[in-house]
Formats: sequence, structure tokens, C-alpha cells
Amino acid sequence: MEILKTLAELEQWRKQIATKTIGFVPTMGALHDGHLSLIRASKAQDEQTICSIFVNPTQFNEASDLAKYPRTIAADIELLMSADTNAVFIPTSAEIYPAAGFELPSFQLEHLTNTLEGAHRPGHFDGVVQVVYRLVDLVQPDHLYMGLKDFQQQAIIAEMLRQMESAIELVPCTIRREPDGLAMSSRNRRLSTEQRQLAPKIYDVLRTAKATWQTTESPTEIQANAINQLELAGFEVDYFEIVDAKTLAPIRMFDKSVSAIACVAAWLGDIRLIDNLRLDT
Ligand code: AMP
Repeated sequence: MEILKTLAELEQWRKQIATKTIGFVPTMGALHDGHLSLIRASKAQDEQTICSIFVNPTQFNEASDLAKYPRTIAADIELLMSADTNAVFIPTSAEIYPAAGFELPSFQLEHLTNTLEGAHRPGHFDGVVQVVYRLVDLVQPDHLYMGLKDFQQQAIIAEMLRQMESAIELVPCTIRREPDGLAMSSRNRRLSTEQRQLAPKIYDVLRTAKATWQTTESPTEIQANAINQLELAGFEVDYFEIVDAKTLAPIRMFDKSVSAIACVAAWLGDIRLIDNLRLDT
């Protein structure tokens, strides 16, 4: 596996594989099998797979969250090698954000960025759009692999690529879960034993929402029950929203023609967990 740390090294690598298709998996490291499932999806479709590891400061709205974000670079490299990844790009902040800056086109994304995560993490998606734009511009992949774990993020990046009229195809990948249902996440490793036992409750309430979808309970009742269940279990809930999977607009009444997804963000102590589940499929 090529370990690329500078733009010059990345460019050199791209020259060597110029005729091959490239699959790109951007990450913030502390890799787990959720990330590796994206690598596997890329390897199944593309001739070359490159992963980036960059803990992007501009998408953290709280300095303490950035400071506490797990960093396990040696183990990450081992995992990527075991998955037969062709290259990993581990840039510094100075490479991604040069003093001279770079031109970020202006995108119309407010309708997707203002809600859910965006409403609770001001500026978060500005940082995500900025870094993904920069990374895809440098890597120039054919396919960009992103997890549905961050449902809103991949919806925003899909819309960004559409507005760029980019040839890059975004490939959304299903959520990998632990055997007890907890969505894999780099943040899970910060959970205490007790918190780790409570954490799968998030998936339980999502499944209950799915089981009750289009029965006698209204979307608002399903939402209220879910929030109640999480709070009783000891979570502090940022949101539990049932939204249209295309527009992210809240669904207040059943509508069979709309694809519904339940999205949740909740805290256990100082650890924020997010998850989601399609309700209509
Ligand atoms: P992160 O390192 O958290 O920025 O995640 C990098 C990529 O991996 C994003 O596209 C995530 O959506 C994806 N990802 C993270 N966790 C999972 C998971 N449990 N299942 C599938 N994809 C995931």
C-alpha cells in the first residue's frame, strides 16, 4: 500500500495509475469495519482504491470534540493494508488548507444543511463540503464511497456533485452494525462499559418506529415515543425526526409516495451518537 503524505506524492501516484478507475473513501480515521465496508465496495467496482485519513478541523463546531476525536493512525494503516487498499492519503492541514486558499464554488445547499445535524452543529456542513470538495478535486476519483450512517452528509455531497455537474459518482453504502445493532462509529470506542450496554437502544427505538410506521400511530406520536424511550434509558436527545429521504423535510402525516427515514442524534454522557433507519422499505 502506498502511504501518501503530500500533494506531490498523491500526484505522482495518480500518474502511475493514470489509466485505472479510482474509488475514493474519505475518512477521519479511527477505522472500523464500517469504513472497511466502503473499501470493499470500492475494491469490488474500481481498479484502484484510495482512502484518506484527515481529521478535518473545519467540521468540528466544538474544539473539545476535535481534541477528543480518537486518532489511531498505526492501527488504521494496518487495517487498510489487511483490506488490500492500494493507497492511503494522510495530508496535513497545511496541504488541505494552503495559506493561499483554494477556490470553493458557492453551492445552494441550505435546504439540506439547515436541518437535523445542521441545526444542532452550526457550521458543520460548511466544513464537510469544504473538505470533500478539496479532497475530490485532488484525488479526482471515478467513484466516491460514503456511508449511509451519515445520511444527511451523503445527501448533501450528492447534491454538491450534482451542482458541480461532476462526473464523479457517489456510491452510498449501507450502515454496518455491531451484533447488538449499534451502528459502528469511531466515537463508540469512547463509550464506558455501561454506556456501551445502553447504546444499542438507539437502534431499538428506530426499529420500533419502523414497526409502527403506517399503523395507527401518527409520525408525531412515533417521534414522541422514541424520544421518551431514549430519555428514559438515560440519553439526552438532540433530535429524533422522521423526514423525507429526498428533501429532508419533516413528515408530519403519512404519505405513501414519500420515502421516509427516521434520523436520530443523542448523547450518552459527552459522547454524541447518530443513526438512522428507512421506515418505508
Ligand atoms: P468518518 O471517519 O466518521 O468521517 O466516516 C468516513 C466514512 O465512513 C463516511 O462516509 C461514513 O458515513 C462512513 N461510515 C462510518 N461509519 C459507518 C458505518 N457504521 N457503516 C457504514 N459506513 C460508515
